[in-house]
Parts: sequence; C-alpha cells; structure tokens
Amino acid sequence: MKPDLHCHSYYSDGAHSPDFLCRRAIENGVTHLAITDHDCIEALIKPMDDCYEIQIITGVEISCEWETQEIHLVGLCIEHENSQLISLLKQQQRARYSRMQAMDELLVKNGINGLQDYLNRLPCKAFTRSHVADFLLSSGKVKNKQKAFKQFLGKRGKAYVPFQWQSMVRAIKTVQAASGIAVIAHPGRYPLSRLKLELLINQFKQMGGDAIEVSYGSVQPKMQKKLENLAEKHSLYVSVGSDFHNVEAHWTDIGKYPQVSSSSIKNAIWNHPRWHPL
Ligand code: AMP
Ligand code: MN
Ligand code: MN
Ligand code: MN
Repeated sequence: MKPDLHCHSYYSDGAHSPDFLCRRAIENGVTHLAITDHDCIEALIKPMDDCYEIQIITGVEISCEWETQEIHLVGLCIEHENSQLISLLKQQQRARYSRMQAMDELLVKNGINGLQDYLNRLPCKAFTRSHVADFLLSSGKVKNKQKAFKQFLGKRGKAYVPFQWQSMVRAIKTVQAASGIAVIAHPGRYPLSRLKLELLINQFKQMGGDAIEVSYGSVQPKMQKKLENLAEKHSLYVSVGSDFHNVEAHWTDIGKYPQVSSSSIKNAIWNHPRWHPL
C-alpha cells in the first residue's frame, strides 16, 4: 500500500487536472489517492476518466483558525454531498473571493491592474494567495513567487489582507458530521514554538480531532519524529501526503514523502474505523 492523502488540483492552487493527478499517481506507484483542494471539492464532483487503477479517497483541506493562527485541516473519507460540509465550504469560498477583491483594491492602489480578469479565466473554485502570486509573476511585477509573498502577499506585504477562516473546532466538527476523518495538516509548517505546537496538538485532540499528518513533502526528520511521538502520546492516527501542487516543484511529486516509522505505522489512518475508499 502506497497512499498519497494530500495534493491539489487546478480547482484550488494546483496546476493540473484531477485526471492528470490520477495518472501521475499511478505512474508513481501510488495505490490510494486523496485530492485535497483548499476549501473546495470540485475534483470529487466531476467524474474522472483515468482512475480505475487507483483507489480514490475523498478529501478536502480546510483553512481554519486557532488562537489567531492559521491552521490547515485535512478532511478524509468525507461524504462530499453532506449539506453542512457544503455550506461551510461555500462560506470559505466567499471569504476567499472577498479577500481577493480586497487584495485587488490594494494592488490597484499600487498601480497594478488586472487581478480580477486573471482570476476569472481560471478553472479555480477557491482562490488563494498563490494565484495572486502567479498573477504578479506573469505580469512581470516580481521575479519569483517567494518575492511575491515577501513584497505583496505576506503579513508585511503591500497587498496583505488578513484571512477570515472558520474556527478549527467548527472545521473538525463539520468534517466529522460528513463522516470524515479530521487530520491536522503539516503541523511543522506553522510558525509555532515547540510548546505552542504541543498545545495545538493537545487541543486538537480535546476538540475530537482524529489524526496528524506526520510525513509530508518538506518535513524534516526531527520534526517527523516529534510528530510521531505526539500522535502516540495523544492516541491520534497518523497520515501522510506529498502536498503536491505542480510538476515543477519536483521535491513534492505525488507519492513523495519520507517513510513513516514501523512503530507509528500500526496507527496509520487506514486503520481508522471511518476509513473507506470511494
Ligand atoms: P491562502 O490560503 O490564500 O493564504 O494561500 C496559501 C497558499 O499559498 C498555500 O497553500 C501555498 O500553496 C501558497 N503559499 C503560501 N506561502 C507561500 C510562499 N512563501 N511561496 C509560495 N507559495 C506560498
Ligand atoms: Mn496550496
Ligand atoms: Mn496546507
Ligand atoms: Mn495542501
């Protein structure tokens, strides 16, 4: 079994279609694939042509808030027709669209026009700052995406607009109301001290959270070990995924993430009672 339970299609900030992701996953020997777009499930609604050789796991990645910090919650094995889930995602998509409008206004003030037109041409259902970075890059305003975040889109950037996400507890409860498994995504990527990270995992568990993503594209061995220990300590299942967005970022190809230790694998998410392929 070789799962990849975290990746993005062009319905959020990935570059490729769901069919492309399936083909790539099969080529890379992946057996179970979850497309987990930011705040949208379009990839699950549109039928895919090339997926008969692979098990599809339904998924989504919800941006949420915990103690003013932005956290990403992956929901797996979700019933994607669940009305509570759909309504939360609609709210998130509206918040994302308003954020884009506010960013557009700030860009216009800085003499940069055309963001809305650029966004309207995309197949995307959930706009992200990554799209704004692509726009700035394609219109020659920055040399690379990192610079776009530094100069415009990061907290100190000229076009920064604060996020307005749902609370983490509401995101967890909504995933579970849709029979899904609530997984805290890439915990080592948040700007949190060691103690604050432990507090986050502790509270995630108290809120009823199910699993931690312990291995992902960019995880450092020390962080992975720490996350595996925290999962064990709080009786949380462990999940894995590349967080693939596009083929140019070859260090996060589909199916590419460090192996989970043999002691943690017994608590793998595929042993969770609510785990089921589509
Ligand atoms: P948002 O959810 O709108 O805040 O957009 C966040 C997305 O932008 C993330 O999911 C990443 O794909 C991307 N992103 C965030 N920070 C950076 C960065 N420094 N460089 C490139 N992409 C980034
Ligand atoms: Mn992304
Ligand atoms: Mn994320
Ligand atoms: Mn992601």
